[in-house]
Amino acid sequence: MIGVISATESGGRAGARLAAAWPARTRVYEGPVREAFERAFRECEQVVCFLAAGAVVRLAAPLLAGKGVDPGVVCVDEGGRFAVALLGGHGGGANALARDVGEVLGAEPVITTATDAVSVPGLDTLGFPVEGDVAGVTRAMLDGEPVALEAELAWPLPALPSNVGAPGAGASAGAQLRVTDRTLEPALREAVLRPPSLVVGVGASKGAPVDEVLGLVRESLRAAGLSAPCVRELATVDAKRDEPGIVEAAGRLGVPLVTYTAEELADVVVPNPSDAPLAAVGTPSVAEAAALRGGGELVVPKRKSERADGRPAMATCAVVRRPARGRLAVVGLGPGARDLLTPRARDELRRAAVLVGLDQYVDQIRDLLRPGTRVIESGLGAEEERARTAVAEAREGRAVALIGSGDAGVYAMASPALAEAGDDIDVVGVPGVTAALAAGALLGAPLGHDHVSISLSDLHTPWEVIERRVRAAAEADLVVTFYNPRSRGRDWQLPKSLALLAEHRAASTPVGVVRNASRPDESVRLTTLAALDPDSVDMMTVVTVGNTATRAIAGRMVTPRGYRWQGV
Ligand code: SAH
Repeated sequence: MIGVISATESGGRAGARLAAAWPARTRVYEGPVREAFERAFRECEQVVCFLAAGAVVRLAAPLLAGKGVDPGVVCVDEGGRFAVALLGGHGGGANALARDVGEVLGAEPVITTATDAVSVPGLDTLGFPVEGDVAGVTRAMLDGEPVALEAELAWPLPALPSNVGAPGAGASAGAQLRVTDRTLEPALREAVLRPPSLVVGVGASKGAPVDEVLGLVRESLRAAGLSAPCVRELATVDAKRDEPGIVEAAGRLGVPLVTYTAEELADVVVPNPSDAPLAAVGTPSVAEAAALRGGGELVVPKRKSERADGRPAMATCAVVRRPARGRLAVVGLGPGARDLLTPRARDELRRAAVLVGLDQYVDQIRDLLRPGTRVIESGLGAEEERARTAVAEAREGRAVALIGSGDAGVYAMASPALAEAGDDIDVVGVPGVTAALAAGALLGAPLGHDHVSISLSDLHTPWEVIERRVRAAAEADLVVTFYNPRSRGRDWQLPKSLALLAEHRAASTPVGVVRNASRPDESVRLTTLAALDPDSVDMMTVVTVGNTATRAIAGRMVTPRGYRWQGV
């Protein structure tokens, strides 16, 4: 439990925000500060004080009993700028708590134990390369100073602190955040985000040296005043997909090489078609057509390389500016425990300006969101609508995260969302630890050989189809994990399915029943096909049935990797 103590009105507000973010983990102590602090110190593993550090030191001093027993204490200043790990940095978990509090309140964690250098989450976490006075603008952002946002291009950003706003906001302060693909020399207290807006089309004759290709690309960008970090891809014709100079140029720029068929390129209307590529590869334009194929505005028409030796140019290039695209991240949160949420999922949650999900999953990660993230939550059932909302928000050009438990592609939101999405948005999938995998790890190694998951919910699937699949799995001797095994009013499907499996497997076949894997009330039971009590199963459960070779060994469920037990 985390005790929360404050003395002033603004401290009380910040404390209330913390309590709202972590309703199950926090207890707010009211009343005179000394008594509140003493009680919290005795009763809680950790304490967060919205008080001056000196005051907290004086309050804590008479109570200190030793590193091993004292709670971790974090203190947050009146302005909510810093979360200071004051006491019990490691043992009391105050360092980690200071970071977590910092994330919720947008405060900078201050950690003084030598081994925990802090990295402030700042401009470099907004999803695009950044240059200029990164430290200066980050500081202004964290300090709550006005920072003007000058976005020439509408590429989607995550939720920004409320002090970062429209031009003019920072006019007096001078701190400025720009979003542009034009080259510029950033002034002091000015930082530039580089969105992936540029596509460079390239053509090259056989054997064109990489220096000639890359030199032409760089010179074309420079002459047009365009920024290389904004290049998202090189594009060319299929016939050149292995041309070393082009492949190497993409590698050195750190971008993917995208290729199109000659027919696809021949369809693109370009300002500068010519006969040479038509004869060589079957399209009147390579560089311009490849750059334009995905849409956008031609900002550098076809240019040819210049060779010092006066021989014919071997490379061509053209640059297109793509319109900004919204971004939909489909993020699996894992089965429940915070440390089974992947770092990539965490980054994607912080990359979003809009979060869409089932309310109970939103609660699971609310504290990870950037302040200001718009949350669109709905109750069970509204799946199609959630998917549509998420896609519609991305189409508006926003950065959207659509969340699901486990993996968001498994009996979850990814399919309805992608069925809805067009090629006008970017989609990023982040895999999650599924319930079947989490349960498998708890049970032992039940999935050591071929296995399937079968959902027993007949909401989206007629029972005949489900039954046919269960029969097939039974005959094929697959390990089976049942999702959605049983709910109120849907109780005969699980016994029926187990009976179908029992036609092909011994009554003693091991069965694992895992409820709320990795959540606080997790339970794990190992039983058998004959002994399983269906009443012990509900919608928070997965049931994993072994194949004919699965054994219970030392209380663990083990499916051998082959069908011969070696040495057993
Ligand atoms: N996308 C999820 C599955 C959603 S379907 C995944 O990849 O795991 C919902 C079903 O998943 C539940 O009825 C239950 O059978 C199972 N489930 C989800 N989380 C679980 C957990 N932590 N423990 C046990 N079963 C779980």
